[in-house]
Amino acid sequence: MKKSESVFLKVLAEHEKYVVPCYRKQPVVFSRGKGSWLWDVRGKKYLDFFSGWAVSSLGHAPRPVARALSKQSMKLLHLPNNYYHEGQGTLARLLIENSFPGKVFFCNSGAEAVEAAIKAARAYGNPDRYEILTLEKSFHGRTSGALAATGQSKYQAGFDPILSGFRHVPLNDYPALEGAVSERTVAVLMELVQGEGGVRVADPEYVRKVRELCDRKNLLLIFDEVQTGAGRTGKMFAFEHYGVKPDGMVLAKALGGGFPIGAFVAADKIADILKPGMHASTFGGNPLACVSAAAVLTEIKRKKLAQRAAKVGAGLLRDLKRLARKHSCVQEARGLGLLLALELKVPADPIFAYCLKKGLLVNATQNTVLRMAPPLTVTASEIRFAMRVIDEALGVFGKETAQHEREGVVCRVK
Ligand SMILES: *Cc1c(COP(=O)(O)O)cnc(C)c1O
Repeated sequence: MKKSESVFLKVLAEHEKYVVPCYRKQPVVFSRGKGSWLWDVRGKKYLDFFSGWAVSSLGHAPRPVARALSKQSMKLLHLPNNYYHEGQGTLARLLIENSFPGKVFFCNSGAEAVEAAIKAARAYGNPDRYEILTLEKSFHGRTSGALAATGQSKYQAGFDPILSGFRHVPLNDYPALEGAVSERTVAVLMELVQGEGGVRVADPEYVRKVRELCDRKNLLLIFDEVQTGAGRTGKMFAFEHYGVKPDGMVLAKALGGGFPIGAFVAADKIADILKPGMHASTFGGNPLACVSAAAVLTEIKRKKLAQRAAKVGAGLLRDLKRLARKHSCVQEARGLGLLLALELKVPADPIFAYCLKKGLLVNATQNTVLRMAPPLTVTASEIRFAMRVIDEALGVFGKETAQHEREGVVCRVK
């Protein structure tokens, strides 16, 4: 047997036997990446049009991050948070200079950053107010608090009792949100583009009204920018599209360029609400994480990658709209910057599987949504390759389903 085959089989066997099976996995073993591309152990290459849940925004193994990590790793890997190191303050300053006046709490993931935001909101409302309004189809993470905040019952099923104090209202329905506010409500937590929920974009008018309502009722407005932050939507942070500023913002995913880091950015109003002893994370603000994220933010600014995402994303959305006109199984193309999706009238899984076979990584979410989030550095020829494969996938899939049209499944080339 070839060595690559035995590596492949060994990896799958070890997972089968020793790794908790909580992920739906594809039988592909990757060994390296560069730019927008990944290579599996068999030597096949794939265009990563999803960046690992929108994490690898600078591409795979981005040099500025790798260099910063390598340099830092020879000096200091860990320092407890009861001492200082240089990287945390630098990164916090970069985040604040690029968002709004406030202070930053560091942790290691999106869910943890959401937990920090929940605790800050509860500390702010204590003792009278604790309830947090979030949106239906939202996604805020898998830890108990973040899970309760998430407005999708499929993630909560089987884990009762779910933490109380959350209410979910539909996106872009202002009267529903206003009507849900009670004397116990302390905050609104929302994504500006619901990523996991199928790339659903919040209306500017809606967001402005929510901001006004929060001001009027003294509620905290917290944006979950775990997926939209760090240049993804064509601005450094998605809230910049809306002309409103939040009282808090949650970051993770692309922030570390592939190194785990989460951050809760608290605006001045609540920047000092979490006092010594009230919250902590052993690894939060780790020296490696901080230099990685600082390298990411610096690179985004230096190469104007947010502006690039806006421009390239607009072009890609036009391409996707063309595909939507061509294939009747496509309901709609939508998105913001380089966070994009095709909403299908048919299940997205077979299209995802076809793309994978052809060397293109995309994502299927909400059953019928094909989600894309290529690196912000994606090139025109890479986009052409992706469009060709997706076009093909929709075509092949259309032909296959044409036979079933009488049974009510519709997907054919117009
Ligand atoms: C992925 C995601 C999270 C959770 O992040 P983890 O790092 O997986 O805990 C939270 N909010 C949003 C909007 C996300 O996309």
